[in-house]
Amino acid sequence: MIKYLDLKKVNDSFQSDLSEAVTGVVRSGWYLFGEEVKRFERDFARYCGVGYCVGVGNGLDALTLIFMAYISMGRMRKGDEVIVPANTYIASILAVLRAGLKPVFCEPSWDTCNIDPDRIEENIGPRTRAVMTVHLYGRVCEMTTVKEKAHKYGLFVVEDCAQAHGALYEGGKRAGALGDAAGFSFYPGKNLGALGDAGAVTTDDGELAERVRMLANYGSSAKYVHPYVGINSRLDECQAAVLNVKLGRLDEDNRRRIHIACKYREGLRNTDLCLPEAKEDGSHVFHIFTVFTPQRDRLQQYLKDKGIKTLIHYPIPPHRQKALEEYGNLSLPVTERIHREELSLPMSPCLSDEEADEVIAALKSFFGL
Ligand SMILES: *Cc1c(COP(=O)(O)O)cnc(C)c1O
Repeated sequence: MIKYLDLKKVNDSFQSDLSEAVTGVVRSGWYLFGEEVKRFERDFARYCGVGYCVGVGNGLDALTLIFMAYISMGRMRKGDEVIVPANTYIASILAVLRAGLKPVFCEPSWDTCNIDPDRIEENIGPRTRAVMTVHLYGRVCEMTTVKEKAHKYGLFVVEDCAQAHGALYEGGKRAGALGDAAGFSFYPGKNLGALGDAGAVTTDDGELAERVRMLANYGSSAKYVHPYVGINSRLDECQAAVLNVKLGRLDEDNRRRIHIACKYREGLRNTDLCLPEAKEDGSHVFHIFTVFTPQRDRLQQYLKDKGIKTLIHYPIPPHRQKALEEYGNLSLPVTERIHREELSLPMSPCLSDEEADEVIAALKSFFGL
């Protein structure tokens, strides 16, 4: 039996450090706005290569707070539009809606599954204020072209980095430092995962960081002083302590994911599967290893019968969800094809080479190889 993601095995590999870190918080008597959060914000900002990091409650809040802050600062107005990739997890789009803005769905390119930079311009209107780039599956978007288009029209670039912790763009900057502001999720299954909910905003814009910090704390500028209508979204000391331990191994874990991806790619090259490029330059950190085939559902069942668990990211595209039914009539053929053909193979830093070989052998046997 091969699990899709053995989270117990992942966290067992940090066991003694995690226990010590959490025990330290328990004994400290201080559970919010303390030293662990401060340390994480400092170290994660440094890791990403930005001036500021603000810890928040989760990834959805991180993205929502960025837009709330832009509105609060008068840089956007409610009802303004944000161009979002149509192929994403629904949270990216919910963040835009929650802030009172309008998502405009942009097709991805089939090769990258990320927003197609050449299709951004056709979606720009008089009220467009931002482009959201989602580094989906762990692969960084083509930021040079995205930023070129965005800056031509004076748009902000907001990154959804929930699947791309540590990913590098053209060997230089990391995800989280590639736009005007970025939202991260540290949901347990992400490349950098807490033991519960956690998130962060990264940016070089000090004014934005300050506003996000206030909005995440009831819109408060000082104790019991509230100039803004905020929410409550905190990164707590326990989760920050866990993240402080796990951040130290993020690069190594990502390298292990890339190793598995290269193995998959090499082992599967003679099958009929459409495979992602397995670049070793860190531009794809393989939060998810995707394969594509029109026989997806049959393949998933076949693997399941062989004891190999896979997932689909995602079975229903956002614009086809009941919650977003007002967008249900959009024609987004690339997005729909991705959702019809995508299958995610087992992937984690704790997946062994033998397990990866077993997955490869099962896939080859499906194609009669
Ligand atoms: C996980 C995820 C989110 C949301 O993160 P939460 O911490 O669960 O709120 C947002 N966008 C993408 C692309 C994600 O994968």
